[in-house]
Amino acid sequence: MPLSPLKRLFTPDPGKPDGPDRLLIEGREVPVRYRANAQARRIIMRMEKDGRGIVLTVPPGTSGNAAHEFASSQAGWIWQRLSPADQQPETLIGSSVTIRGIEYVIEPASGRGTPVHIRDLPSPQLVVRGDAEHMRRRITDFLKREARRDLEKASRGYAQAMQVDFSRLSVRDTTSRWGSCSSTGTLSYSWRLIMAPPKVLDYVCAHEVAHIEQMNHGPEFWNLVYRHCPHTDFARTWLKRHGHTLHKLPL
Ligand SMILES: [Zn+2]
Repeated sequence: MPLSPLKRLFTPDPGKPDGPDRLLIEGREVPVRYRANAQARRIIMRMEKDGRGIVLTVPPGTSGNAAHEFASSQAGWIWQRLSPADQQPETLIGSSVTIRGIEYVIEPASGRGTPVHIRDLPSPQLVVRGDAEHMRRRITDFLKREARRDLEKASRGYAQAMQVDFSRLSVRDTTSRWGSCSSTGTLSYSWRLIMAPPKVLDYVCAHEVAHIEQMNHGPEFWNLVYRHCPHTDFARTWLKRHGHTLHKLPL
């Protein structure tokens, strides 16, 4: 496997190597320790005893940049000697993602088939095919599609119940608002709502569709929302307490 380019995470004092440094090899942070030694004639590198980092012994006068460049040039050597657990390229395998309020463990799969699918039994899993490096994008694409489906269904339902029409529905990655409704009747939602419990996504749709009728947050607006969406209080409380977690996923 060819090694990906190294990225410097910590710039040691250019005058002399000092303090901790890190190399990023295959997405793994590898700790580097420098030790100046008056007797050293050249830079000597060895693995830490636990196999999880490296130690560089450097002659006096070696600049931090030179020491770092030397360590970087040995990435292949370091990678081969890292403890097996640290040799795994960093992936999302084993981490989990919440979909409709249920936690799914990310499970890799090989062979042909749907790139991403949900498996509920025997335990909730999100099965993802293909290379580890594309996993993140595949999962995000999948979640956006699922989000659009749920958002369209709920918005259509509320539009019918409230006897209004919307012109367009867009799904975005908004940070400040879960949804919005324009004066021309375009509904916009955050795809991250797919991770929340279904009642939360549903409420956001009721809220935005109600804005087609009431472009404000006055009593009549809230009457309309509460009349059509019985879990409004639950969803508003949930968003207040847990909304920020939807931005904190490994995606
Ligand atoms: Zn509103």
